[in-house]
Amino acid sequence: MDLSLQSATAADPDNSSGREPRRVSVFGSTGSVGVSTLDLIEYTNKHSEKELEIVALTANTNVELLARQAITMRAQFAVVADETKYLDLKELLQGTDVAVGAGEEAMQQAAEMDADWVMAAIVGAAGLQTSLTAARRGADIAFANKECLVCAGSVFLDAMAQGGGRLLPVDSEHNAIFQVYDFDRPERITRILLTASGGPFRTWSRDQMAQVTVEQAVNHPNWSMGAKISIDSATMMNKGLELIEAARLFPTPSSDIEIIVHPQSVIHSMVEYVDGSVLAQMGTPDMRTPIASALAWPDRVASPSAKLDFHTLTDLTFEMADAEKFPALRLAREALELDGLAPTALNAANEIAVEAFLNRHLNFLDITAVTEQVLDSFGFAVCRDGISLENVLETDRDARHKAREIVAKLSC
Ligand code: NDP
Repeated sequence: MDLSLQSATAADPDNSSGREPRRVSVFGSTGSVGVSTLDLIEYTNKHSEKELEIVALTANTNVELLARQAITMRAQFAVVADETKYLDLKELLQGTDVAVGAGEEAMQQAAEMDADWVMAAIVGAAGLQTSLTAARRGADIAFANKECLVCAGSVFLDAMAQGGGRLLPVDSEHNAIFQVYDFDRPERITRILLTASGGPFRTWSRDQMAQVTVEQAVNHPNWSMGAKISIDSATMMNKGLELIEAARLFPTPSSDIEIIVHPQSVIHSMVEYVDGSVLAQMGTPDMRTPIASALAWPDRVASPSAKLDFHTLTDLTFEMADAEKFPALRLAREALELDGLAPTALNAANEIAVEAFLNRHLNFLDITAVTEQVLDSFGFAVCRDGISLENVLETDRDARHKAREIVAKLSC
């Protein structure tokens, strides 16, 4: 068992009183998770005596929303990753007290600032460097950005251990597991049951899926999310990435982590114990619930999310996940078992393939096909190498390059 991982994730109620978050930064504040986080913080500030201060907010290009958020939330620093947007952001924030930055260096500066609770909600491996910086300086990390843990697992966990902050899972499934997982007795846990909605094409055949449009794929039946994770949910690569994320976060062997389709998304995941007890966390599909859990852990804060209505809740059904229909599930399991840099290549290839699909350069079924070809081309033996930040970045770059080549061939 990786003890640094356990200490990074385990709740420590005795230590919690001095760790209530006061100063908060949100990386990816203009995205779906970022907006939910700020909504919850505004709600908390209105409904509790303790005011959460916003240190830094960041976006990639959406300066209009970033500027509005920075003004409303009285942020100290607003950063746009895309340097070409600097002057636009500066103009929008002229006459305010908000400091303005752009580009990689400013993103790092934001991560260095002394927020004690940092929401990591940038999408994709682009969120890695700022999360590492915040982790190394000891911030508690509310962790939505699963790609970071998939592509740089032990590098990120080592950074958390080095800094001594807490890793608080925000992905609804991992947050659910976190809430019911007995970190003091992991050997008493027999299975983690990672639930999946099955996405919009759960009942479709592969032939039907060959014709899927971008509009159909982004239209998730239960959750309202950003475009990339919505496509990942449709291919079920999201569940594959979550499998890897769960294996990194919880000291349970990956062979004991099972994916179960639960189309209603009411149970957000479960943990089974040796005595046959299965503990589940339930709630409406609203990210403000797991974010609130991460914000207050191990305490609780009120959240504006709708509560479950057991009078109208009729069905809670479960199905086996179908890895033939959704080969992303098999690929992710293979990458996890190979470990080393295989998950890094898997994640990078998938990011490029999803982007190509969203830009209408690739068919839906080819998203997973591209990822598989990239993994094959890497030769899995190499992926058994130990990982460092340098070889993560190199593999990420190479896998993206290879994926672009394959996409270019397929889209001819
Ligand atoms: P969105 O696409 O809605 O938002 C992504 C955020 O990241 C935006 O603020 C975006 O800025 C910013 N961003 C994008 N690219 C870059 C970049 N290169 N550099 C810096 N910032 C960047 O994503 P979601 O909120 O849906 O998801 C965020 C993360 O949370 C993902 O890892 C996802 O898997 C995870 N997650 C999301 C859930 C959800 O319900 N949405 C549920 C569970 C996990 P801009 O707006 O300017 O483009």
